[in-house]
Amino acid sequence: MRIKTLRRCAVFLCFFFLSPAWIFSGGSAETPPESSPAAAVYSRPPVLKIPGSVIQGDILTVLVQIPLPEAKQEGAGSGGEHAAAAPALPTIREVSAELTGSAGKKVLSFTGFRYPLPGAADTWAALGGISSVQEPGDYSLALRIYYDNGQEFTPCEDLKITARGFIREEIPLNEAMSALREDPDPRKAAEARELWALLSRVNLASVYHAGRLSLPIAEGFRETSFFGDRRTFLYTDGGKAYSIHYGIDYATPRGTPVHAAATGKVVMAKNRVLTGFSVVLEHLPGVYSLYYHMDKLDVKEGQMVSAGDCLGESGFTGLATGPHLHWEIRVAGNAVEPKTLMSLPFIPAEF
Ligand SMILES: [Zn+2]
Repeated sequence: MRIKTLRRCAVFLCFFFLSPAWIFSGGSAETPPESSPAAAVYSRPPVLKIPGSVIQGDILTVLVQIPLPEAKQEGAGSGGEHAAAAPALPTIREVSAELTGSAGKKVLSFTGFRYPLPGAADTWAALGGISSVQEPGDYSLALRIYYDNGQEFTPCEDLKITARGFIREEIPLNEAMSALREDPDPRKAAEARELWALLSRVNLASVYHAGRLSLPIAEGFRETSFFGDRRTFLYTDGGKAYSIHYGIDYATPRGTPVHAAATGKVVMAKNRVLTGFSVVLEHLPGVYSLYYHMDKLDVKEGQMVSAGDCLGESGFTGLATGPHLHWEIRVAGNAVEPKTLMSLPFIPAEF
């Protein structure tokens, strides 16, 4: 208990030394408690948990917490006619985050949601996805945190993005696949718009799974493409097109059962021009998993599924050069490395 208390204090000190600008932000947030006996408004900044660096394709998990008040020692500060009443603990009303580059260019914005953790009055999480094409370098993460008692905090922390290695590959397409990719088709554009609108949606109440992901197929299938592969499609007419692979491809024969990688809600289950029979699951606000090129779907839009439930069978539909499952994870719109999330949870179980 004592260690916890000291650690918490150390974190607070850290804030004030590392982020001096924050002390003056928000104006009323720094009202000295002794200025008026009636000013019993809780004004302590929240405690933050933010990584100092992330890798291209990582998830960026930000935690914001109002700790429980420290227990007073018996006999100390109790009673006394001058003792001030402790201010009521607030809850957090809103958290938003914005990542900007060194030139002040906005890179990513994402929204927080309540995620109760033991030992705290209130905890919120905000999840961002670092794109595989985000330039490595120094960035700045600005948060806006609002309490329900009117206090506002705007801390700003440094964040380093480091490089991940990616594979380059050339993919020759036959005539039918060249036409499927090249030929203009209003359905492709409409489906792309529909998918982007869905992946951009942040439903703050959709908190279904914060742990690790599980592999959506049985163990042992060969991986034929990887997250972030830099691809060149070679068309039959000699043309070329460049693209980035957003997920992992597994060489599954037709009819291989495909399972939900985590508990969530089916927000898309349909046949699409380029991705064939496709399923999209929502797991957390702004966090989705995608399953493409299936032959058969066993789920319907709006349905809840548990981790491991069968979504259908893998196949050879849409733009594919052979039977396989394409599996992809999106966080705040950006594709992230699914393998990282098979070893680490979206949100840690402890602060
Ligand atoms: Zn793929």
